[in-house]
Order: sequence, then structure tokens, then C-alpha cells
Amino acid sequence: MRIVILGPPGAGKGTQAKRVSKKYGVPHIATGDIFREIIASSSEIGKKVEKYVKSGELVPDEIVNKIVRERLSRPDCRDGFILDGYPRTVEQAKALDRALENAGEKLDLVIELEVSDDEIVRRLSNRRVCRNCGAIYHLINNPPKIPGKCDKCQGELYQREDDREDIIRNRLRVYRERTKPLIDYYLKRGILVKVNGNPKVNEVWEQIRKILDEQIALKSSRSDKLMDG
Ligand code: AMP
Repeated sequence: MRIVILGPPGAGKGTQAKRVSKKYGVPHIATGDIFREIIASSSEIGKKVEKYVKSGELVPDEIVNKIVRERLSRPDCRDGFILDGYPRTVEQAKALDRALENAGEKLDLVIELEVSDDEIVRRLSNRRVCRNCGAIYHLINNPPKIPGKCDKCQGELYQREDDREDIIRNRLRVYRERTKPLIDYYLKRGILVKVNGNPKVNEVWEQIRKILDEQIALKSSRSDKLMDG
């Protein structure tokens, strides 16, 4: 299954994409995580992208497209993937279509998580991430057992620099201007499904799981028909 999960920052894309990856056995590819790793490596390219990520602006399309193209060409993506945080512009969506088309593939589904702005600010300003394994916590809804420490690996929890309220507002503005047009792009293609991202993690997950199970059933009945016919 080739899936894109779309939505404003803080909609829960990473949390849900990790669950999809685990249940359906597809790699979770998060461009934000890739950029944070590149920045931590203090390479030339890391220095180049750092200023964009820290201010909540988008990294230029040609840099992102190249990184994603390379990642998707690895063998673990042959049977599918879930892309989180990519595409973020119509240009990126077109580049993704081209890359898939060249490999004789196409996207199966785009999941849009819809969440109100107030809920996003509330979530992101309380978000903490494990520096070691990437697990995500919320200081009120899902706090770690020991403050500042990851339950899973005891790694140190930190607040992303771009999770400050002023930067969050900028990221929301960028989302509205640059990424929202993608919703129309995928609606027209008939592959977009909207999911209410406001409820608790498990409730959102139930909605997504149902949609994906239906999609898998549909795909297998289509291929049965092809074999019969
Ligand atoms: P995220 O973790 O998805 O919120 O991404 C963090 C930051 O990485 C974003 O605010 C952008 O600066 C950068 N970034 C991640 N994905 C993309 C993308 N597809 N296009 C441009 N910039 C991106």
C-alpha cells in the first residue's frame, strides 16, 4: 500500500503513521525526521536546511524531492510505504507522481487529518520527543512515567525548537498557503479520505484502521476479479 498522510503540524501524522507502519508492515518515511537527522550530522546540506526547519519555513522543493526519491528507491519501499510530511507543495506532489510513474506505481490513498488550530497549538506546545527513539509524548494527555525520560528506552525527552508558539503559528500559516492546495489536487484524483483528527489517538487510529482494511479488501477483490476474468 502506498499511502500519504496529510495534515497540519501537530495533527498526529507521526503518531498514526507509526501505527500504520507497524500494523501493515510498510516503512514510515517522515521528511521532518530525515531533516532533523541531517541537521544533527552537521554536514554541508545540514547547514543549508537548518535555517528553514528552525523557522518553520519549507525546505526548497528540489532538496526535498531528491531526498525522497532516493529513499523510495530502496528495496524496503517496493511493496509500499507511508509518507508523513511529504508532499507539502503541489510541486512536490507532482514530483512524487512522476517518480512513482517511472517505477510503474501510483499512490493508493491520501489520508487527511483534520484538526482545529486551537487544538494544534495546545498539542504542540506540550509535545515532547525522545532524542533516542523518536517516541512522542504529551505533557497532559500522554505524559512519560518519569518526567523528562522516555518510557520505552529511557532516552532524554526534548521540546523541538519549532514547537514554540510563535513558530507554530508560522508553520500553520505555511501549511494553509502551501500545503492546503494539495487537498484539492488529491480530491480530484479521487484518492483522498478525510479523518477527524480531533479525538484521542486510539479513536483516530480506529478510523484509519477501518479505512485501510477496507482499502486492502477492495484491492484484493479487484485482483481476484482480474484473475477470474
Ligand atoms: P515536520 O516534522 O513534518 O513538522 O517537519 C519539520 C520541518 O521540516 C518543517 O517545518 C520544514 O521546515 C521541514 N520539512 C519537512 N518536510 C518537508 C517538506 N516535504 N517540504 C519542505 N520542508 C519540509
